[in-house]
Amino acid sequence: MHRHEVVVVGAGLAGQRAALAAVEAGREVAIVSKLHPLRSHSGAAQGGINAAVGKEDSVDTHIYDTVKGSDYLGDQDAIEHFCREAGPTVIEMEHFGTIFSRAPDGSLARRAFGGAGFPRTIYAADRTGLALLQGLWEHLGTARFTLYQEWDVTQLVVRDGRVQGIVAFDRKTGDFTGIAAKSVVLATGPAGRIYGRTTNAHSCTGDGIAVAYEAGAQLKDMEFVQFHPTALLESSILITEGARGEGGILKNAAGERFMSKYAPHVLELASRDVVSRAIVTEVLGGHGFDGPYGQYVHLELMHLGKEKVESRLQEICDYSRRFAGIDPVTQPIPVYPAQHYMMGGISTDIRGATNVAGLFAAGEAACVSIHGANRLGGNSLLETLVFGKEAGMAAAAFAAKTGTSEVTPADVDAAAAPSRAWSNRSDGEDPSALRTEMQRTMERYVGIYRTEADLLEGLQRIRAVRQRFANVRVVDRSHVYNLNLTDALETGHMLELAETIVVGAYARTESRGAHSRVDFPKRDDARWMKHTIATRGPDGPALSYAPVAYTRWEPKERVY
Ligand SMILES: Cc1cc2nc3c(=O)[nH]c(=O)nc-3n(C[C@H](O)[C@H](O)[C@H](O)COP(=O)(O)OP(=O)(O)OC[C@H]3O[C@@H](n4cnc5c(N)ncnc54)[C@H](O)[C@@H]3O)c2cc1C
Repeated sequence: MHRHEVVVVGAGLAGQRAALAAVEAGREVAIVSKLHPLRSHSGAAQGGINAAVGKEDSVDTHIYDTVKGSDYLGDQDAIEHFCREAGPTVIEMEHFGTIFSRAPDGSLARRAFGGAGFPRTIYAADRTGLALLQGLWEHLGTARFTLYQEWDVTQLVVRDGRVQGIVAFDRKTGDFTGIAAKSVVLATGPAGRIYGRTTNAHSCTGDGIAVAYEAGAQLKDMEFVQFHPTALLESSILITEGARGEGGILKNAAGERFMSKYAPHVLELASRDVVSRAIVTEVLGGHGFDGPYGQYVHLELMHLGKEKVESRLQEICDYSRRFAGIDPVTQPIPVYPAQHYMMGGISTDIRGATNVAGLFAAGEAACVSIHGANRLGGNSLLETLVFGKEAGMAAAAFAAKTGTSEVTPADVDAAAAPSRAWSNRSDGEDPSALRTEMQRTMERYVGIYRTEADLLEGLQRIRAVRQRFANVRVVDRSHVYNLNLTDALETGHMLELAETIVVGAYARTESRGAHSRVDFPKRDDARWMKHTIATRGPDGPALSYAPVAYTRWEPKERVY
């Protein structure tokens, strides 16, 4: 049994920033991560991080763009705090060692991003996430905390009205171990692998959101799932919005620049939900290209010239050449939308606190909410840092005034029991087959366009897969890097969350941001200007609703 004051689960940008804040507050800290920290999905972020710096831009415009982008579901008090912290956060990251791209005059270079009224996305070529992660990792310094690497947290221990710690599974040995903590920060990142087509890494399985939900934490706005308009066909590798920010254009099979029909003012730089729906509408209308990997549209960069494409979009060139066999300098890139981001997550306040005492959350696993119904590109990297710091400080303050916590051998046994049962079965379901079935179901019935009939069908199918999961079997009995077992653990987590997405989407009879109901095509502020809260009950998620915080911006129709 191990014991620490503050335990941070996850070592991406949110987790590292939380750990740094807790260390600086004088607490003793451990990070538990299923990956090497620098392999976290934050490192895959390409396009950049938003901050209103320089004279021409303003914090108020950033706030307004974020509120509008959220389709008025974002909490305006949280958004105001978030946008005010943006400039200082980016400068701090630069001081920590992140090397950003520069304009010719030496100032921070900025590019245009979707839904932004001003080019305010600061970047490091098209590998911004990795540059930030490296800078933060070096600054944090491994000497200041304990690292449990390749440990998967499978359960939170909550007793006497507060968090007592966690139970984790060590991939290297197959052992389950308890770690007592006075406070816990969950920074476990995305859950995109619930969908078949996703830009998210294989590790993005929503574990932290699921363990929080199982321990009684409330989830917020799970039905809002962002699809990125431009993922490379077949592999679904992301083609950053920065490609359109640099001047890339979209064309259908008739050679039409179709965005003029959907967003006449800003064209390809409309918000992500708008561009994704436009692409799907074009394809459904018979204007897509057809290929062995499905239908698609073209993203053209050729007119930008070799020099610009190869210097500003180095990774995009590399991915297109390696994974699609085409050269974006001379050929169009075949793209189609793919799941990209979860607006929903563990419900927190501005300080990262959840409804469970001692439990905090930050980053993509959390929902504050600043993204509301639709996130703007470049706001998520910023979110990890601003709210990672908040959660770290709050967890440190909580730990400072809290007595000893306890994780008992019985807690560890209880957490390990399901996995033992899965391994002891002589017959049962293959976790990877269940995962594929879940992904296909979510893709087909809970995608970009939704209807009541589809959502009902989706819910029945997800519940059927959950029932089959009760009889899941792990055939590999080995203790060392048992991927069959981690697959089962992750699939269980994702099934739990998939159900909350469908139930929330079925209940919300309006269209707002990324949630687009064909049978309820309009936003309905009178009935639905509220957050969905999901609490785990004996028969699945129980829904309730919470008000949206307003400060200065009245809801308006959202046009680009
Ligand atoms: C391809 C791609 C490009 C993107 N580009 C941009 C961009 O340009 N700009 C922008 O603002 N946003 C972008 N985003 C979104 C943004 O990168 C993410 O939302 C953000 O980085 C998530 O950070 P995080 O710290 O919350 O999670 P992550 O960086 O994913 O870290 C999660 C951590 O949790 C750990 N973990 C997970 N489960 C467990 C478990 N059970 N036990 C222990 N540890 C666990 C992992 O090991 C990992 O260390 C992009 C996302 C993707 C997928």
